Amino acid sequence: MTPQEQRVAQWIRTEIRALRAYHVPDASGLVKLDAMENPYTWPSDLVARWLETLREVSLNRYPDAAAGRLKDHLRSAFNIPDDMDVVLGNGSDELIQMLAMAVAAPQRIILAPEPGFVMYRMIATFVGMRYIGVPLRQADFALDMPAMRKALHEHRPALTFLAYPNNPTGNLFAEDDVREIIAAASGIVVIDEAYAAFAERSCMSLLREYDNLLVMRTVSKMGLAGLRLGLLVGAPAWLREVDKIRLPYNINVLTQASAEFALQNRQMLDQQTADICRDRAQLYDALSQLPGVVAFRSQANFILFRVPSGRADAIFADLRDNGVLIKNMNGAQDLLSDCLRVTVGRPEENRRFVEALRAAL
Ligand SMILES: *Cc1c(COP(=O)(O)O)cnc(C)c1O
Repeated sequence: MTPQEQRVAQWIRTEIRALRAYHVPDASGLVKLDAMENPYTWPSDLVARWLETLREVSLNRYPDAAAGRLKDHLRSAFNIPDDMDVVLGNGSDELIQMLAMAVAAPQRIILAPEPGFVMYRMIATFVGMRYIGVPLRQADFALDMPAMRKALHEHRPALTFLAYPNNPTGNLFAEDDVREIIAAASGIVVIDEAYAAFAERSCMSLLREYDNLLVMRTVSKMGLAGLRLGLLVGAPAWLREVDKIRLPYNINVLTQASAEFALQNRQMLDQQTADICRDRAQLYDALSQLPGVVAFRSQANFILFRVPSGRADAIFADLRDNGVLIKNMNGAQDLLSDCLRVTVGRPEENRRFVEALRAAL
């Protein structure tokens, strides 16, 4: 080891050195169906109007720290109850981090069902908390309620995350199960509704019923991933505390102006979302008809599917070599062996993916 490497080993925490940084693969030249992005751009007249609004933005000034106008737009776009507060994050990833920082203490626990969203585990490590993953039911990725009850009782997590719909499985958990978990938890339960735009149900209306419930949303999956804007909704008693951890000016001026503009043109985003839901049904049917493929029903803008045993890595590589990038979930977790995940793209992208998969099989 060089002297510098020794210093790194001495001062950077062991658990951080053991991490692998979040890997974002290079997608240049590929049909990009790996990251749950909305595949549609805006019509050129709308782009022109958006650029006009950006002319008014003062880059020399700090942003509106409270982002009051943007919050008003978000309140109406997401039907946020009047008596609930909103805290904005630089993506909902930042909100997960703020929540973790607000509760972190040695031996305190973050709990989530697995397979689930990887940032819950990573952020627990960042802030020095323990992470407990509770396996979902193998057959249908439903919550394993006996296991959840036991884990909540044994570990008393400070934070429990339920992604609703779940990533990477795409299903909505049963509402009765979700209610039971919120009622049984002593700590905070966060319902992460990143995919609400594509789902039939939301837990926003449960906020008034449970005093330990928070709901998280993001504009990323509904077509604004580049803006980095997430929101946490809940009772003022909780959000007042979380807001103290928010770095001042975390939502930059360009994001504030652009998100306001986009929400004023909500019909376009809603139409794109409706198209994606329609194409999800077609993609599901096409996948289900491929011999050896089992597709799982999804309430999000992606579909998880299983390929014949032992072939996922080769099929993933074959697709990439043929110009289509999806996500290989094989090996990430026991329940995901032989599984791949594809984001719903434009119809011609979906067709190209299905043809490449047919050939790879
Ligand atoms: C994509 C995703 C997020 C992150 O959203 P950002 O707002 O882009 O940070 C959060 N939770 C789940 C379950 C996701 O899939």
